[in-house]
Amino acid sequence: MPNVRPFSPAGRTSPLTVALLLIGVVVSSLVGLDIWQSWTSRNQALTAAQNNVSNLARSVAEHASHTFEEADTLLVGMVERVQVDGLGTSEKRLRLHRLMKRLTGSVEQLHGLFIYDREGNWLVSSTDAIPPNANNADRDYFIYHRTHADSGSHLGPVIRSRSTGDLIITLSRRIDDSEGRFAGVALATLKVDYFRRFYNAYTLDPNGVINLVMADGTILVRRPFDEKLIGTSIAKGVVFSQLLPKASAGTQMLPSVIDGVERLYAYRALSRYPVVVMAAESKDFLLSQWRSNLLRMAAVILLLLCATGLFGALLIRQIRQTTQTEAELRNAHAALELMAMQDSLTGLANRRQLDQALPQEIGRARRAGRPLGIIMLDIDHFKAFNDIHGHPAGDACIRDVGQAVLGCVGRSGDLVVRYGGEELLVLLPECELSGAIRVAERIVEAVQGLNIAHSGSPYGRVTLSAGAHAWLEQTLPPRPQALVEAADAALYRAKALGRNQVFPGPRSSASASASPGPQPG
Ligand code: GH3
Ligand code: MG
Ligand code: MG
Repeated sequence: MPNVRPFSPAGRTSPLTVALLLIGVVVSSLVGLDIWQSWTSRNQALTAAQNNVSNLARSVAEHASHTFEEADTLLVGMVERVQVDGLGTSEKRLRLHRLMKRLTGSVEQLHGLFIYDREGNWLVSSTDAIPPNANNADRDYFIYHRTHADSGSHLGPVIRSRSTGDLIITLSRRIDDSEGRFAGVALATLKVDYFRRFYNAYTLDPNGVINLVMADGTILVRRPFDEKLIGTSIAKGVVFSQLLPKASAGTQMLPSVIDGVERLYAYRALSRYPVVVMAAESKDFLLSQWRSNLLRMAAVILLLLCATGLFGALLIRQIRQTTQTEAELRNAHAALELMAMQDSLTGLANRRQLDQALPQEIGRARRAGRPLGIIMLDIDHFKAFNDIHGHPAGDACIRDVGQAVLGCVGRSGDLVVRYGGEELLVLLPECELSGAIRVAERIVEAVQGLNIAHSGSPYGRVTLSAGAHAWLEQTLPPRPQALVEAADAALYRAKALGRNQVFPGPRSSASASASPGPQPG
């Protein structure tokens, strides 16, 4: 049988594995890149937002400081004037009133300027008329200055003005007499509306917040403006309870104590006034641009993944088809090789296979110093068989004889060849002449045993003749044809001696006793 080497993928990575690995690497790279890019851009968006709210808080704080300072400077001047010049005459009071009125008209944030005596009665104000019996002794700022000797300014929570009904922030200073006793209060009132309008002028997230808060957590002004929230306390919030005790400025992502919205807060405490400003934009707003970029990027990546998947599927299908075609080609090639080595009628080895096997076996026998047996067989009177029974029956006979011969050789190296029309050859490696004769006799008997009727033969059935020979290196030159010729010569002798018998090869006189087959009937 031809030795067809099977395809073995062992030790080689298959193209399918390489393709799957490649697709895996591409897909995980795309996903990894997307995750990394998203994470980086999110951090960048948050860092930029942190800078924005920080700058906004700084700007709001500067503004608040400047606003209070401007009013405070006026108070310092008023206090100085009252303490030094006094307000003893109505002319002095009139001059001061005119000045206060002019200042209130020219300084935008100012709602009014007032001077009270030690009982809280209105002495002078920026208003044109002093309400009869007007007294502010009950106001917090008045009580504060009456009970505190310090000459610094005092900032109070938002109150509603008794003169105009507006919401105002109070900034006041104590007035002392020449002996340092409490002599009254100078007050500047600042419009809450001024701050509201200023804060509304900023372009901000619709959910953004600007807070002007007293150091104790009481809200002075808030954007978005809601009157109900003014005066409420956010002292329990994280900014006042945890962050401000550690640092006077900073940023932090927090949920609001007022509406629960998560925002990035920047806070800053004013250095000269007990006020804290806060600016914040909502997390949703800050990350909205990043989110829409993320979605766009994810859509692109998804498209790429789909394209990769499609391409991968096509590639894998192509590789599978190629692999299958290759396997089919290999099988077809193996079948062709087999066909090229096989006789189509009997399925036995053909001359081509013998031409390959014989030199190999001779070489092997030479190297091992062992004999090589060979038997040449020819069916007797076969021409007559064809003439009597027809060629198809002749073909069937050749097939049956071939199977019978095959059944008489047992060793794995033995080879049965259809040498010619009704001639067969048996190659018996490591078999000396006596062994070859025994095998040949078995064959002659086996063919007789088939009992194929043959009226054209003197034996009445199909028989064959055999020429046996064994090659030893010493006996003949290692020429394959010489070996066949020797067996053929023996066959010729067997024919000549009456057929249906075995004749040993020319140098096998020791075995010449090989018995002829049964006599013709
Ligand atoms: P002998 O006993 O001397 O061998 O006589 P024979 O008639 O067998 O003579 P020979 O060996 O010369 O005849 C061979 C015949 O075998 C000739 C041909 O008709 C027949 N033959 C050869 N090949 C085939 C084949 O493939 N099929 C059939 N049916 N007949 C074949
Ligand atoms: Mg013949
Ligand atoms: Mg013949």
